[in-house]
Amino acid sequence: MHPLEALEMQVSQCRRCDLRDQAHGVVFGEGALDSHIVFCGEGPGAEEDRLLRPFVGAAGHLLDKMLDAMGFSRGKNAYILNVVKCRPPGNRVPLPQELAACRPHLAAQLSILSPRIMVLLGSTAIQSFLGPQARVTRVHGQWTEHQGIWLMPTYHPAALLRNPSWKVEAWSDLKKVIDKYRELVDPDHFSTHYPLKISDKNLPPGTIKPQCR
Ligand code: SF4
Repeated sequence: MHPLEALEMQVSQCRRCDLRDQAHGVVFGEGALDSHIVFCGEGPGAEEDRLLRPFVGAAGHLLDKMLDAMGFSRGKNAYILNVVKCRPPGNRVPLPQELAACRPHLAAQLSILSPRIMVLLGSTAIQSFLGPQARVTRVHGQWTEHQGIWLMPTYHPAALLRNPSWKVEAWSDLKKVIDKYRELVDPDHFSTHYPLKISDKNLPPGTIKPQCR
């Protein structure tokens, strides 16, 4: 059994905070076990709690489209998780004690996955790593290194559904993620919406350089 699967069995029994009492179950996370990139949200919503899968409602549908545009998918090369694993009632923001109670589970997930990059989706995920003063509108698009993981704060897909005008800024952030992934993990990483820039040295002599960006 993969260590992440063993951890999931353990966490599924967790009752460290009161969130578990009102939730249907623990939403551990899902994705490729050898992922070098993780997408981290706040916590499960109603649909996620019902299906015990992360990001499966309307926001999840948009996240999947964002991943697809970037050349990622949860079944192939990305892992999706949340800072708290049980649904806060009424989708309220998790309380500090709930975040603290669940933090060891997140730390254990990251320890096993050892991602190179983590995309922080929305304020709760951002503040969990960058501190309570961090505001998504101010810090999005700026890299921070945390214990060997490159963090990219950006908008939560649910916020993008409420404010579609933020999608332009979000895509700018995500293009930086693609660049970093090509730098750290796979120089040939393919994205339909952000094609690889073909440098002169990769082309046969005499080839006219294509304009990809
Ligand atoms: S939210 Fe986290 S700490 Fe709280 S019961 Fe669920 S798994 Fe345990």
